[in-house]
Amino acid sequence: MGEVAMKRSDVLGLPVDPLGLDEALSRVGEHLRDRKPLRVVTINAEMAMQAHADPELGAIIRETGLVIPDGSGVVWALRLRGHRVAKLAGVDFVGHLARYCTAGGHRIFLLGAAPGVAETAAAVLKDLNPGLAIAGIRDGFWKPEEESAVLDAIRETRPDVILVALGVPRQEKWIARHQEALGIPVAMGVGGSFDIFARRIRRAPQWMQRLHLEWLFRLYQEPWRWKRMAGTLPRFAWLVLRGVKERNAA
Ligand code: UDP
Repeated sequence: MGEVAMKRSDVLGLPVDPLGLDEALSRVGEHLRDRKPLRVVTINAEMAMQAHADPELGAIIRETGLVIPDGSGVVWALRLRGHRVAKLAGVDFVGHLARYCTAGGHRIFLLGAAPGVAETAAAVLKDLNPGLAIAGIRDGFWKPEEESAVLDAIRETRPDVILVALGVPRQEKWIARHQEALGIPVAMGVGGSFDIFARRIRRAPQWMQRLHLEWLFRLYQEPWRWKRMAGTLPRFAWLVLRGVKERNAA
């Protein structure tokens, strides 16, 4: 417990666990073993800024057991504070989690994305991990009146892990509201990961990832993100730098 608490850092008042992949997976493993609920969030600069504007999202992230630094902005902010962390992209973590679940016989439910996308993503994950147990699949475009049927269907499959692709902040709020009642030990918001596994969205080439330009590739593929990014990322950098200056002055 002491070690976990010591390792927790923060970005703009939000917790981040600067853990390596193996440590993050073993944290997940503890919760699968003890069947104690664990929520996993992968945080980037955009999400941090969303949490600033949305107190409910901020509170959920503050009460999240595993917050993984996903995004160069968050890693940059942590490094300014002297943390030696590497970025662990959410989509990569999903891949590792699938491998981990295959080895341990843990069953995964895929919830969210457009009809058919999660099926394709599940097929790709099974190809990569022969023997992976998919507990169930459901797209993310149900009507409000279908919500209780969706919950019943998930409950019946008794998954160990649920991956929720409904976009930020809906997926975080959905998990916070339903995970415990569904009795699912591990729940993770995965954003556009199913679209990437299903190859509906392409991942930035390795060289761009190495240069920390994954965000630029995303922008090129999904130009509608421009307004959202331009409105939040410079402000994120400004707030982080101001925080560092204040800490140094104190
Ligand atoms: N999505 C969904 N239901 C909705 C709205 C969105 O299932 O009502 C899915 C969408 O198809 C996509 C994911 O949620 O697979 C959101 O991906 P995005 O990359 O936009 O997420 P972000 O990480 O930017 O929030």
